[in-house]
Amino acid sequence: MNYIFKKENRTEASLNNFNAEHIRWMKFILRQSKKVGEIELPISAVILDERGRCIGRGSNKRNVNSDPLGHAELIALRQASFMKNDWRFNECSLITILEPCTMCASALIQARMGRVIYGALDEKRGGLGGSIDLSKHKSSHHKMEVIGGILEKECRSEIKLWFKKLRNQI
Ligand SMILES: [Zn+2]
Repeated sequence: MNYIFKKENRTEASLNNFNAEHIRWMKFILRQSKKVGEIELPISAVILDERGRCIGRGSNKRNVNSDPLGHAELIALRQASFMKNDWRFNECSLITILEPCTMCASALIQARMGRVIYGALDEKRGGLGGSIDLSKHKSSHHKMEVIGGILEKECRSEIKLWFKKLRNQI
């Protein structure tokens, strides 16, 4: 399934603003996720500034740090706001392999993230279209561009594989 084409309103703008660099970053975070995957759900995220430079990076640290807020997106956000010395990210993009959950989606809206690019859709917990689309909710006063389904097959199989391994360990 190619999720880009399901979001008619966003399709044109999304494709114009999406480029090979984003694919390169997606491949990078997929590799990062494989490393994280030995102990955590394999999720990684990067934040790029308006010139495409990486200003924040995060991997899921929920188990390692016993931290319910230890999601890759939030860790990357914190690092990027330190780098930027600003809490606003209107000109920035966040790239992650799985659709952000509702907590991270809310944080990204609060941070005024300009664009969110993700791989696999999360129909259970996704906060940007999979389960609920908080970017379109009336409580969201920020217009965010959301592009889903980038390298979806690779991203989805990485997550599926992790759950399969987990089941085999129990
Ligand atoms: Zn999250």
